[in-house]
Amino acid sequence: MHYKRILLKLSGEALMGDRQYGIDPVRLADYAKEIKSVIDKGVEVAIVIGGGNIFRGVAGASKGMDRVQGDHMGMLATVINGLALQGALEDADIQTRLQSAIHINEVAEPFIRRRAIRHLEKGRVVIFGGGTGNPYFTTDSAAVLRAIEIHADVILKGTRVDGIYTADPEKDTKATKFDYITFDDVIRKGLKVMDTTAFTLSQENELPIIVFDMNTPGNLLKVVTGENIGTKVNL
Ligand code: UDP
Repeated sequence: MHYKRILLKLSGEALMGDRQYGIDPVRLADYAKEIKSVIDKGVEVAIVIGGGNIFRGVAGASKGMDRVQGDHMGMLATVINGLALQGALEDADIQTRLQSAIHINEVAEPFIRRRAIRHLEKGRVVIFGGGTGNPYFTTDSAAVLRAIEIHADVILKGTRVDGIYTADPEKDTKATKFDYITFDDVIRKGLKVMDTTAFTLSQENELPIIVFDMNTPGNLLKVVTGENIGTKVNL
């Protein structure tokens, strides 16, 4: 395997499937199958899950809600998604632990870095819920932070597009995909991969990011075996 320990970032919206809101159990089961394919190869898998399918703090704030209150709701949404994903992984016979950045001890372990690493070494999937535990951050930042903390080899950002393009491929038919791109070029060209805080943290810690289409079966395994799909952002 090309990568021994991966941090997979899944957005909350990815869990919606074709729905407008919430969680699609079929999509969850599909993802569990994809994750099992890499676990079976002995790859250590940590996952950071978003919450955008349920609530985003900025959306609340734009309608007059206190931002911090909204962000707390968003963080709880990521715990809900984490529980859903944990259930789906267990249904696929994958040992899983959910660790939360906000204390919610009856439903999830607290985030303890050494314990998370131990789970990974034992072949358990560790899902990190609650983002960073702080308002004004995103789960992309949580993904980079946790990836650095657990010494992941790479961040895999699973999306519905198959990589980073010169322009939005849904709007510009001439847009072309990058196979590789440097952190500096992403910034210079004004491309969107993650929010700036997350992206800069990844760059400063020399942690590569691969953006790939998570909705095509087999893709996760291909990425992990080093096959050149998606776009790799590197130094
Ligand atoms: N959030 C937060 N701090 C964090 C991570 C998330 O306050 O460290 C809140 C924030 O309100 C955010 C919401 O949780 O909008 C859901 O996370 P995100 O938008 O990153 O989810 P995704 O877009 O990946 O579904």
